[in-house]
Amino acid sequence: MSDSNSLLRALPAIDRLLQQPALTALAERCPPVLLKEAAQAAVAELRRRILADPTTIDPETLSEEQVAQVAARHALARLAPNLRQVINATGTLLHTNLGRAPLATLALEAIVAVSCRYSNLELDLSDGRRGQRHAHVEELLCRLTGAEAAAVVNNNAGAVYLALAALAQGREGIVSRGELVEIGGAFRIPEVMAASGVRLVEVGATNKTHPRDYENAINEHTGLLLKVHTSNYRILGFSAEVSGAELVQLGRRHGIIVMEDLGSGMLFDLSEYGLPREPTVAEAVAAGIDIVTFSGDKLLGGPQAGILLGRRDLIEKIRKHPMARALRMDKLTLAALEATLRLYLDRARALREVPVLAMLAADPEELRLRTENFATRARQALNSRATLSVVSTPATVGGGALPLTELAGFALALTTDAVSVDQLAARLRRQSPPVVGRIADNQLLLNLRTVAPEEEDALLQSLTKALADTDE
Ligand SMILES: *Cc1c(COP(=O)(O)O)cnc(C)c1O
Repeated sequence: MSDSNSLLRALPAIDRLLQQPALTALAERCPPVLLKEAAQAAVAELRRRILADPTTIDPETLSEEQVAQVAARHALARLAPNLRQVINATGTLLHTNLGRAPLATLALEAIVAVSCRYSNLELDLSDGRRGQRHAHVEELLCRLTGAEAAAVVNNNAGAVYLALAALAQGREGIVSRGELVEIGGAFRIPEVMAASGVRLVEVGATNKTHPRDYENAINEHTGLLLKVHTSNYRILGFSAEVSGAELVQLGRRHGIIVMEDLGSGMLFDLSEYGLPREPTVAEAVAAGIDIVTFSGDKLLGGPQAGILLGRRDLIEKIRKHPMARALRMDKLTLAALEATLRLYLDRARALREVPVLAMLAADPEELRLRTENFATRARQALNSRATLSVVSTPATVGGGALPLTELAGFALALTTDAVSVDQLAARLRRQSPPVVGRIADNQLLLNLRTVAPEEEDALLQSLTKALADTDE
């Protein structure tokens, strides 16, 4: 039995703690300011516990050596980066909270190659003059889509905003009421139009819009006709929309620009992998749309980016707009985008090496085998600390793309008597690497479609650790 005053007096001094081997061993890796904070935190925690209930404190745990070990753990935790790798076992391929598309190895190598030292970002190596950063991907984009010209910006929201501002500021933009999309919180077509200085003219009804609706709204103030892909919802049943080709006819007749925000922007048709037919970028270009925009990190499977394609004169105008500088793409992204697009020159290679495409096309039977093998390993490792089964459950595309599509597959379903399923999920998120699964029917589901085979060992480790510590 010890009273709190004598225990408090026994707490080690910070500068003495900092001389303990457990902390001096970290000096190379850990900045002094973090070591000191860690030592202070370890002492503060003990002080709190002493004041709360001195009878729970073993005086031996107050030795400099032992407190320094606790401080060392605090220091290591402070060293870990905030933004780090997470294992996505949700089965949602484009999970916006988890960074959307994982990049192809080739894209990562390209980032390293151009960013360790200098690059020809805006230098034309043939004549030594100033070049354009867009030039590194323009030819590739045109080749893959049939477009005349291309520009790239920070993301698709930026691309839509910039195109509207550059092409129709102070004029009217006509949009179908069925296409006034909201993409996660801040991006809503009516608000983006307002911000870019284009007056929104809504036509048609929520479920049906006809060519005559656009035609009746066209006047001398009309700046463009905008078609928006309803990426994250569908209007089913009694519905009608005006196709891109029909809009182009109207636009040509009245000399008005037609723009289409494709959202996801698939470069080739993936319907043979059980996905619904989605308009490809090349089809929109072939239909004669003047400006097409889409994201780099949705179904394209590249870095966060906004891509603009279309008529050369319009692309030039977009590049020259003052906001283009504010939205410009940085060199790391440009390197990753170029490498990803190069993979698309060979479709078979793109399907193997662009992770989003590989996950989309993964064979359910192979997924079942992988999941069953993993379940066997997990049963051995967990040693009956959890109940495991393999269940049939679909994966989804996510990221506001193909909202109704379910990709057939399997998941490892977990429950344990030790903790609730929510607590189990929370523990998995606290591991290193953290694991994010999905809860359904009071079970934790781990879907391997979104887990790379080379992540399986780490997943098993995090799972074992999550079920080992029961001191909660
Ligand atoms: C996702 C999406 C956007 C926004 O694209 P970001 O690249 O996330 O900025 C805009 N429009 C549509 C139709 C989308 O699906």
